[in-house]
Amino acid sequence: MVQHRCPDTRWSWVEIDKGALRRNTRAFKEKLEPGVRMMAVVKADAYGHGAVECVKVMHAAGADQFAVATVEEGLELRRAGVTWPILILSEPPMECVQTLIENDIMPSVYTPEFALAYGECAAAFDKVGKYHLAIETGMTRIGVGWKDALEFRHSIDFHRGLSCAGTFTHFATADVPNDWTFGLQYRRFTEAVAEMRAAGVDCGLVHCDNTPATVLHPETHLDMCRVGVGLYGMQPADSTRPHISLDPVMSVRARVTRVVYPPVGSGVGYGQTYSVARQNVQIATFPIGYADGLARSLSGKMDVLVHGTRCPQVGNICMDQCMFAVDVNTTRAARPMDEVHYGDLVTVMGADGDERITAEEIADLRGTINYEVTCNFGARLEKVYI
Ligand SMILES: *Cc1c(COP(=O)(O)O)cnc(C)c1O
Repeated sequence: MVQHRCPDTRWSWVEIDKGALRRNTRAFKEKLEPGVRMMAVVKADAYGHGAVECVKVMHAAGADQFAVATVEEGLELRRAGVTWPILILSEPPMECVQTLIENDIMPSVYTPEFALAYGECAAAFDKVGKYHLAIETGMTRIGVGWKDALEFRHSIDFHRGLSCAGTFTHFATADVPNDWTFGLQYRRFTEAVAEMRAAGVDCGLVHCDNTPATVLHPETHLDMCRVGVGLYGMQPADSTRPHISLDPVMSVRARVTRVVYPPVGSGVGYGQTYSVARQNVQIATFPIGYADGLARSLSGKMDVLVHGTRCPQVGNICMDQCMFAVDVNTTRAARPMDEVHYGDLVTVMGADGDERITAEEIADLRGTINYEVTCNFGARLEKVYI
């Protein structure tokens, strides 16, 4: 029986299973040929899982390098004592070049203005500014156009303060089997790299694969894979499911803070969108709301698990709390539902007994993807590492 540790300050929390994180990281490492590096993507506080704690587990399980989205995310890791390579997955504002140099955080580079400001700063500190060149191959997001990569390098390589540690692109459709765009992007990327190498330009570590490409296209691993969502135990798409087995890392839990048997006809919550139709229906409250990542659009559509049984969430989800119904006569469950008590465990995402609510289930109800679901839950709820 798992003991669910609860923070002292609030009866709601995100539970992070470090064992699952370790197993997932190892499962990806095993997919890579010896010598291929793994860059764990820990942007957005490790997709809501807490970057500092996750980085330690991932490194011990085989991750070599780490990728973040912002300078602040990189600084958080450095302040926590992380010494392994950190890459920012886009080009930050020029104003922060000194911060990058001082903290040994690598930017992605794709404008000459940034590159030269970064190189100048590095040279002024008698250091080399390591960077990764981002190449645009079809995502239409960031990077130097694949046809312009060599010329771009020629325009900045004179600078003694710059050192290219890597060259990368990013796929738009890696999760779609037999997709034409994927092949096109890969060809553009490898041709750009070949052209630079033929001209004697050092590209550093060459990498392009995200989670679905790592799983579905082993022939494109090159020097390094950038694995994100899969490490957290989520499948990027149904297409990857048959190829790797992953354990969900995040659960979202709460305790019941109040429970009543309202009179028949009582309305529940803002707008009174639900009303109690029968006797013997309990309405229970727990402290998770839309400011905790439980999107208001889930109101009246989602279930929670209590005593291993599904109960329908009812009424509009508030900012910090919401309610669910326990119909002691007729729940959605096969077996009769026990009464719920103050302090009982509520599972919003994760397993309780034989039942499980997945990030995918919540994402489908919201009309989004699992990535967004865990990012949102990670924003305010306290994290408990088990
Ligand atoms: C987010 C991101 C990744 C990781 O993607 P997953 O699908 O989570 O594996 C890799 N590369 C870049 C450039 C990204 O922005």
